[in-house]
Amino acid sequence: SVVTRFAPSPTGYLHVGGARTALYSWLHAQKHNGEFVLRVEDTDRERSTDAAVQAIIDGMNWLGLEHTQGPIFQTDRFDRYTQVTQQLLTEGKAYRCYCSKERLEALREQQMADKQKPRYDGKCRRLSESEQDQNQPHVIRFANPQEGSVSWDDAVKGTITFANQELDDLIIARTDGSPTYNFTVVVDDWDMKITQVIRGDDHVNNTPRQINIFQALGATPPEYAHVPMILGDDGKKLSKRHGAVSVMQFRDNGYLRQAVLNYLIRLGWSHGDQEIFTLEEMKSLFDIHDINRAASAFNTEKLNWLNQHYMKTLPVEEVTKELQWHIDHQQLDVSNGPAIERLIPVFADRVNTLSELVNSVGYFYHDFESYDEKAAKKHLRPVAKEPLMHVQSKLSGLTDWQPETIQQAIDDTVSELSIGMGKVGMPLRVAVTGAGQSPNLDTTLHLIGQQRTLERIAKAIE
Ligand code: GLU
Repeated sequence: SVVTRFAPSPTGYLHVGGARTALYSWLHAQKHNGEFVLRVEDTDRERSTDAAVQAIIDGMNWLGLEHTQGPIFQTDRFDRYTQVTQQLLTEGKAYRCYCSKERLEALREQQMADKQKPRYDGKCRRLSESEQDQNQPHVIRFANPQEGSVSWDDAVKGTITFANQELDDLIIARTDGSPTYNFTVVVDDWDMKITQVIRGDDHVNNTPRQINIFQALGATPPEYAHVPMILGDDGKKLSKRHGAVSVMQFRDNGYLRQAVLNYLIRLGWSHGDQEIFTLEEMKSLFDIHDINRAASAFNTEKLNWLNQHYMKTLPVEEVTKELQWHIDHQQLDVSNGPAIERLIPVFADRVNTLSELVNSVGYFYHDFESYDEKAAKKHLRPVAKEPLMHVQSKLSGLTDWQPETIQQAIDDTVSELSIGMGKVGMPLRVAVTGAGQSPNLDTTLHLIGQQRTLERIAKAIE
């Protein structure tokens, strides 16, 4: 049965690339009713923090990428790594290396001078048992096969082959006994019975080393799927300087998780020309063999487009729930005004994000401090007194405050005064919303309410 894993190093937040890898791994497990392991690769104690572990878990929770096993921390598994190291030593598949830093440095320099790829020359591989003193400081190296090649059929990239001669005798345990990265990954993937390793293609060079260790352990390596990296809009590897790269930052910026998920799945995977995928479709259609071979570029416009789509189409209660976070965050008091969910359909087409939405709806809940200067200059100064007074009297006479009756009052003003719609609508808009742009006036005034509307018109002409 299928077991996948997400294996972040907890040195920062969950970034876009990690989230995409996690999503693909989760989807593959979901599709096959398998297990999804969260494994925290925290052996680099200096750079790993509890806060980062929490940030990664928060990001995954927000996206709904629930793990079925874990979190498993590598730092809890040192005994196990030592045990496997001993096993390899006993079987002659690993060896103690006593080479000094100085010797390794000199070797390296010589190889560079000879235009060779720097690699350990295997001096200690040939030491006899009696030449090995366990009490002398040493590292443990994996005895990599010296001949032949190692090859795998990558689900994304096709067959990849490395000559064993290109591979070093990797250090698997440092002088202090602590295990190293490539080794812990293999022991874990083996113990956790991982069937598919889905990860960034920055790991392609590690894979032949890991496969050789699997083979030395008499174990079958998992299937590998190396996902191409994500580029920024300038074609360089996506990084902080491109703006938001943390998943939670997208949440803070007002993106819905459905939009982010849909964005992430398409960022490196496609199914015909379909752009919108429900969660169910993601689970049934996703296939690691369809992951794109080429790198994909981050595209904020597309994310915005998806976010709008989901703001418009998700059940309003669901959008409201997420919106509430932004209301709290921006400390907008929505107690005095329309129910916020009524504004969602009105604004979904006009804003890219939920935070923009919350930012745009203040005038429904409290009086604004000042008019937008440009709009006021154009439409209120000198005050459009006549049209405003005319429409004011029509609006104040309404006993049924509905979009239709409001529209009728505006239309009547236009025809009775024989002026253009803009000469009534724009002063009215600025007077009531403070701005030169708003959704349709009939809807806007309807939602603002009769009393507030009349007060604001009065204030504009006073
Ligand atoms: N911990 C590694 C990283 O953050 C991932 C290792 C793996 O997926 O095999 O890049």
